[in-house]
Amino acid sequence: MTPEQLAEVERIAGEFDCSILEIVGRNRCIYAILGDEGRELMFNRLRGLDFLARVDLIESPYKSMDRKSALAEHQVKVGETSVGEGGPFFIGGHCTVDPEEPNLYLETAAALKEVGVHALRGGVWKPRTNPYSYQGVSKALEIVLEAKARTGLPVDVEVMDTEQLEIAVDAGVDVLQIGTRNALNYSLLKEVGKKTVGSSTAVLLKRGRHMAPPNEFIAAAEYIVAAGNPNVMLCPRGTMPALDGYRNQPDESITPLLKDKTWAPVVVDPSHSVGRDEYVPACSMAALAYGADGLCIEAHIDPSKGIGDDPKQAVTPAAFAEIMAACRDIWPRRYQPDPLG
Ligand code: PEP
Ligand code: MN
Repeated sequence: MTPEQLAEVERIAGEFDCSILEIVGRNRCIYAILGDEGRELMFNRLRGLDFLARVDLIESPYKSMDRKSALAEHQVKVGETSVGEGGPFFIGGHCTVDPEEPNLYLETAAALKEVGVHALRGGVWKPRTNPYSYQGVSKALEIVLEAKARTGLPVDVEVMDTEQLEIAVDAGVDVLQIGTRNALNYSLLKEVGKKTVGSSTAVLLKRGRHMAPPNEFIAAAEYIVAAGNPNVMLCPRGTMPALDGYRNQPDESITPLLKDKTWAPVVVDPSHSVGRDEYVPACSMAALAYGADGLCIEAHIDPSKGIGDDPKQAVTPAAFAEIMAACRDIWPRRYQPDPLG
């Protein structure tokens, strides 16, 4: 739309006390009407503008995330890979990058590249339950960037505040991870969307540990998309534990509910769901069967030398390769939403 055309749309919306939010996608722009968008007269007048390709009424609490929204065909890309196209998408790497042992991370990255992962994860700043546990340092980001340069793989790094967001975006981090603790931090979610408007940066939004209905999760993602970045992946990672033995309550079974409601890819994190490396393959396969588009798995070349969660829940690159093979077998038989539904 030209600025004059946009002004015209805004003028009509303004007459009905509505405003326009521009969402710049990779292939097209969407203009969401904010306010009471159900006014028939406003709709008819907008439909009369021949420069608008489509005007849809989305009766959904999440206008951009809805499977029926104009973003329904939007493809989330990480690096060169379209997430959920042609096979499962895999992110792997350390829970926490040890700044004293850069080689461990670089070795893990090389081994995972060999195995065929699509992106590397690496915790730089860590949200630790105990304030005396290792909290992370910006220096660790250099190690992640070195791994990115050596392998050519995109990297996923968690950010917890706007300062870290700024550093990560400026450094060229490809996937911004929003952790379970910040999944309901609406100010941060808006900032993430705003900071990455029109860019190819993707966001891996973890499900909040205290979130219940799927709508709450989708609405959190809507904040990021409405602020301007549609490249969002939803990441179930377990909720408050109800089963003694699991670290969290595994929630990969939320996947079909999400797939029925939203177009966004679902990338399950089995590592935090179950919290033990020996349960990770089963949770991964279950996630795939439920329709997940991909997995984000903590992996380490030598978990016993890891820090953070790695000693207890990271899998080795060899185990990762087995998980990938099993998931690729499941892929054609996974749950898929009814295309007409
Ligand atoms: C992590 O990915 O290492 C992490 C801290 O995740 P979560 O926010 O899901 O606990
Ligand atoms: Mn972790």
